[in-house]
Amino acid sequence: MTTTPPLFRLRSVSRRFTAIGGVVALDDISLDIHRGEMIAITGVSGSGKSTLMNILGCLDQPSSGQCLVDGRDTATLEPDELAALRNRLFGFIFQRYNLLSDATAIENAELPALYAGVPAEWRRARASELLSRLGLGDRLYHRPAELSGGQQQRVSIARALINDAEVILADEPTGALDAASSEDVLRQLEELNREGRTIIIVTHDPQVAARARRLIHMADGRIARHETRCPENPPDHIRTGTSASPPPQPGRRHLDMSIAAARTALRSLWRDPFRTLLTLFGVMIGVASVIAMLAVGEGGAEATLARLEKMGTNLLTVRPGAPGVRSTADLTSLTVEDVQAIRGIEGLTAVSPVRSLRTTLRAGATDYITMVHGVWPDVAMVRNWRAVTGRFITAEDVADYGAVVMLGRTVAHNLFPDTPDPTGRLLVIRNMPFQVIGILSTRGADQWGNDLDDLALIPLSAGFLRILGKPYLSSVTVKVDQADRMATAAADIDRLMMARHGIRNFQIADSAAAQQALSESQRSFAMLLGAVAAISLLVGGIGVMNIMLVGVTERTREIGIRMATGARRRDVLTQFNVEAVVVCGLGGIIGVALGTGAALILARNGFDVVIRPGPAVAAFGCAFLTGVIFGWLPARKAAGMDPVSALAAE
Ligand code: ADP
Ligand code: MG
Repeated sequence: MTTTPPLFRLRSVSRRFTAIGGVVALDDISLDIHRGEMIAITGVSGSGKSTLMNILGCLDQPSSGQCLVDGRDTATLEPDELAALRNRLFGFIFQRYNLLSDATAIENAELPALYAGVPAEWRRARASELLSRLGLGDRLYHRPAELSGGQQQRVSIARALINDAEVILADEPTGALDAASSEDVLRQLEELNREGRTIIIVTHDPQVAARARRLIHMADGRIARHETRCPENPPDHIRTGTSASPPPQPGRRHLDMSIAAARTALRSLWRDPFRTLLTLFGVMIGVASVIAMLAVGEGGAEATLARLEKMGTNLLTVRPGAPGVRSTADLTSLTVEDVQAIRGIEGLTAVSPVRSLRTTLRAGATDYITMVHGVWPDVAMVRNWRAVTGRFITAEDVADYGAVVMLGRTVAHNLFPDTPDPTGRLLVIRNMPFQVIGILSTRGADQWGNDLDDLALIPLSAGFLRILGKPYLSSVTVKVDQADRMATAAADIDRLMMARHGIRNFQIADSAAAQQALSESQRSFAMLLGAVAAISLLVGGIGVMNIMLVGVTERTREIGIRMATGARRRDVLTQFNVEAVVVCGLGGIIGVALGTGAALILARNGFDVVIRPGPAVAAFGCAFLTGVIFGWLPARKAAGMDPVSALAAE
């Protein structure tokens, strides 16, 4: 009849399933099918029709024998090459339509073109043209559930034609349709055959079979009968190759696919908000807690550092009394002479002796008990103190035994409630009159809640002369010029003091180091909290993976449809990877917002909080990575599916 090589050539093809007992679905089939034929395959249920169709359509492979499609042995083709062949050569029409239930008519129709790498505008235009030609012009944006059976089947015909397929493989295309719709579909198929396409219809309906020009009757996996009738309407011409579509663009193909996958992901997230919330929950909470924990931890460490600055930095404190020994003799061991000697050591910015006494201050009829410190002017530099009004204690005040006093804000408020600035006023300490010369800058409270403004300063000399009694010191604080010279300075002072006293009746403390350690430990606590939060992110990721694995099982048929329409393994892999990344990315964004919000609320409630972009970016990055890593397993599961069994899934 024809001299061109056959489109399909089957030689002794058998297909056995390794189910219990072993099923022989096809048994030694040999068959040639030429371009432009219209063939019906009939037979009772279970006779092997669908199995034969799947082998012709490169969805399945023979167990033995040879199947040549367009001259190529399908056994020699890689899965991706088979996918490309399906995509280019075949249009499938199924009994159950097999449309993507979440996608619109137009999106369903354009699916094979998406996998062919055809530009989006062209896909859209061609899909809507085909649907309009099939009478669905006003149903372009309807979903399958909003269409009748006949309309759904017409969408699947449009899908079969979008890549201008040469061969239409229809497995029971009218099986689920009423008489009128069946007739409609059959007329469409006849029309396509007249255009020169090869049509292969599987049917058990004799009415349908009667329309074909060649009839293959199957029984028990064998060809029982072969009928050829005289063609009533021979094709105008024989089609070879595809025509209308522009050349595919491989680079864009991947991008277009990823966009479509992201859209699918967002749509399925949108459709079931409760499930979405559950899916996102783990990632959201994980990201939010990482951000909030680190903000609080960092805030605590920063606040400690700030207090440290306020207390003065690079400080060494010399106290009387040997470590662990407490005798009155020891507590009187530190003297002004020691201070003069320490002053001779190099590399010290300031040396500040202090003698403190808790006593009563009286102004008029008002009494107030506070700490009175006898100091040198050096204390200003060591403690970062300054006068906000009036002036600070000077060297002259010390030299002259001046009866002057500086007040902390709290003391000033209590003794002189009538005036904001009591500079120049008089008060009495232990029956001695002192003149107020200035108010100290406000310092607030320390981390234990002690009021740092509840104190009074007088010149050390005047203190010894008038109120403090014996001239020994409570402590000497030394400011070292450089942080890295702290240890050297401490050693120098220790040597000097040992030389002067002969015994260790003093101690030297690096107060900054203690605070530094506190701040360090706060930071590591914050890191620990962050790590706990990161673990919750991990758990969130595993949750996403779990839900996605369930999703892959639920969507088995969708995967089958995608594969039948030309999706390669990598496309399915991309689909699920992109979906996981979209889910986790969305969870990450919401998590960043939640975490920042939580940190702000904590800040309002008195917590020290520092919100940095670093942890937010890192946590979002983690969420993104979680998507990539935990989406991989479900994606691989999806991509590894066998098209035939995926399509057969419920
Ligand atoms: P038809 O489409 O003619 O109704 P099929 O081609 O679907 O028949 O099936 C032919 C035979 O192969 C049946 O006996 C069926 O049970 C068996 N079969 C089909 N697919 C499988 C499978 N995946 N595993 C095991 N047996 C199968
Ligand atoms: Mg069947």
